[in-house]
Amino acid sequence: MLVRTLVLGGGLTGITLAHLLRQRGQEATVLEAAERIGGLCRSRSENGFTFDVGGSHIIFSRDHEVLEFMKNVLGSNREQRTRNTRILFRDILVKYPFENGLAALPKDDLFYCINEFIQTYLKAEKGEIPPPANFREWIYATFGKGIADLYMVPYNEKIWNYPPESMSAHWVEGRVPRPPVEDVIKSAIGIETEGYTHQSVFTYPAEGGIESLVKSIARGIEDCILTGFTVRSLAFRGGVWEAGDGKRTVTGDRVISTIPLQHLLPCLGGGVPPAVKEAVGALRYNSVCCVQIGIKGRVPDISWLYIPYRTQSLANRISFPSNFSSHVAPPGHAGILAEITYNEGDEVSRMTDDELVSHVIGSLERMGFLTPGQVVHTAVDRQKFAYVVYDLDYPGNIRIIREYFQERGITLVGRFSQFEYLNMDGCIRQAMECARSWP
Ligand SMILES: Cc1cc2nc3c(=O)[nH]c(=O)nc-3n(C[C@H](O)[C@H](O)[C@H](O)COP(=O)(O)OP(=O)(O)OC[C@H]3O[C@@H](n4cnc5c(N)ncnc54)[C@H](O)[C@@H]3O)c2cc1C
Repeated sequence: MLVRTLVLGGGLTGITLAHLLRQRGQEATVLEAAERIGGLCRSRSENGFTFDVGGSHIIFSRDHEVLEFMKNVLGSNREQRTRNTRILFRDILVKYPFENGLAALPKDDLFYCINEFIQTYLKAEKGEIPPPANFREWIYATFGKGIADLYMVPYNEKIWNYPPESMSAHWVEGRVPRPPVEDVIKSAIGIETEGYTHQSVFTYPAEGGIESLVKSIARGIEDCILTGFTVRSLAFRGGVWEAGDGKRTVTGDRVISTIPLQHLLPCLGGGVPPAVKEAVGALRYNSVCCVQIGIKGRVPDISWLYIPYRTQSLANRISFPSNFSSHVAPPGHAGILAEITYNEGDEVSRMTDDELVSHVIGSLERMGFLTPGQVVHTAVDRQKFAYVVYDLDYPGNIRIIREYFQERGITLVGRFSQFEYLNMDGCIRQAMECARSWP
């Protein structure tokens, strides 16, 4: 029997699932609310500039199979670059990761960082540091007070828009690596070292921004993608799954959701246990605002820049996409993309697009990346679901939610359905595992 799978959501995960199911000779229908596929991996091309609207995206992975998959689907539409990333510490550009750039710090800050790092390392070796109970404790236990106070804590407070002491530490192991002590000492005395080496060379589409990755995966399966279809109801009746948008109904034999849990739950109507509703309601996430600036002239030879202090800018990161590909800005021009995380109701959520643009331009001028009159293009995009925030209640809540969806026979895959901090490679890996697990 030919099995038809309903895939809710046409972001990277949903499109990859449909592609892989088709490859295995199965039928799939992707239901995507927006008029365009791609979700967080969409891009906007205007006035000769191309920007990623869900924040700056690069292609990298430790997962060889997934990395090859991404490169192969792009074919010749890709460029490879060496990462050159910095942290703007006060007005000093420090090499990223911070612990690999310590030599750039003023002497007293450098002593504070290296001394505290070594003291903490020695205590850890003697088993004198208890297991961290939250993310803040993990930062102090991993980097010592110096690196924590000067960079890790302010930066994380800014990007998560949530206190690190209220965040769980379970997700950081492996994602934020524990720096080898030799490397930190070398970096402090000025010997070059590299951190996060799996990212030191990255790929980016030559044309079309990151959206061309999703478009390439969708090539040949366009007939199974329904855009402009917001799933509002989902029910299993008479042995068949029915998904509706209020006007139309699409049926399938099984269902995979890649849409945010907060959108999926209301589709199920009454009968959802209150504990599940509460658990979904308690999940925390961040939104991101992406301010795009096209300029006449050049930008520094930096891939992206972390900005740890709110006094420097509301933006936590500034990327220079025209350093990823030579085709995303007109000749003689360059692109700058600022990311600002926020939550509904806070200061940033209340700012208009114009206010955000002038704030970003003002901070870029103060940081020395712009001079007045250089700006020739601006745009702003906001993504409601951008980052999963792992608060202390997360492990308990996600357990309740996953058990419930498993009982209902709904498979959850992707960043906001699994509700995990998955990058593109993680989403594709999960899609591969899911497609392979079905006959
Ligand atoms: C600022 C930022 C920077 C990032 N940078 C990188 C990077 O450099 N490298 C990297 O590998 N990863 C990066 N990522 C992560 C990457 O964006 C995600 O891993 C990936 O895009 C998630 O894809 P997804 O399909 O799971 O989710 P989404 O992209 O969120 O897709 C979900 C889709 O579901 C649709 N949808 C929602 N509700 C409904 C509904 N009711 N009915 C139908 N459709 C619906 C949405 O419109 C959307 O298209 C970054 C993420 C952010 C926020």
